[in-house]
Amino acid sequence: HGARAIVTLPLGVLQQTSPTLGAVRFTPELEAKHAALQRLASGPVVKVLLRFASCFWEDVHAGRYREVSFLHLPDAEVPTFWTQAPAHVPLLVAWAGGARARHLASNATPADIVRAATASLQPLFGKGLEVARQLEGYHYHDWQQDPYACGAYSYVTVGGDDARETLARPLDATLHFAGEATDTAGEAGTVEGALRSGIRAAREVLGTWTRIRSGV
Ligand SMILES: Cc1cc2nc3c(=O)[nH]c(=O)nc-3n(C[C@H](O)[C@H](O)[C@H](O)COP(=O)(O)OP(=O)(O)OC[C@H]3O[C@@H](n4cnc5c(N)ncnc54)[C@H](O)[C@@H]3O)c2cc1C
Repeated sequence: HGARAIVTLPLGVLQQTSPTLGAVRFTPELEAKHAALQRLASGPVVKVLLRFASCFWEDVHAGRYREVSFLHLPDAEVPTFWTQAPAHVPLLVAWAGGARARHLASNATPADIVRAATASLQPLFGKGLEVARQLEGYHYHDWQQDPYACGAYSYVTVGGDDARETLARPLDATLHFAGEATDTAGEAGTVEGALRSGIRAAREVLGTWTRIRSGV
């Protein structure tokens, strides 16, 4: 038992209404949060770590990509590949978000997604270098299906202008809410936003605590 709790569950987990793995039951229910939870959504992302035999992208086109932080192919199925710059490591992080990620992840195995990623990257290197043949291993995590995440980044849907603020508001000076979805300073969907919301919630708790102790 505790006098206060700070709830930092991901938005997708908070939105679960059925008793599935990861879902949390509140008694009494969080009725004051229902409208806000309905006006926020958890967006999909596909992120795959691709480990190659070498940093082959550094050696082509006269070293043009040697120091880049990411390679961007706006029209490709997987449009973004983060390097580990400034470290020279044979690892690219393939990334797709939003509708593209949803389409990519639906009915696809991790191997299919990796194939889509290497195929997306291929046009940068022409016929002289086969990207898929450079691949030595990969790691894929499905954030949408992870019962403790249920999505990647929160976003506001139509009519949800005040949803983040409502979600962030404490209930009966007992439950406090933090996590990226509760950030109202424009950093939602980021680590920065999550950290800042945690500091805000901790200050709220300390504020009410001080008032109770001083009898105000
Ligand atoms: C693939 C991907 C890439 C990203 N890249 C970046 C980036 O480059 N830069 C950036 O700033 N942000 C990035 N983000 C966003 C960033 O990771 C999140 O905004 C941030 O981690 C959110 O922090 P949080 O504390 O709100 O939630 P989380 O980090 O999700 O923490 C919530 C915690 O609650 C736990 N939990 C869930 N259900 C339960 C339960 N039933 N019981 C107990 N615990 C539970 C989870 O296990 C988790 O530890 C990325 C996100 C994803 C998915």
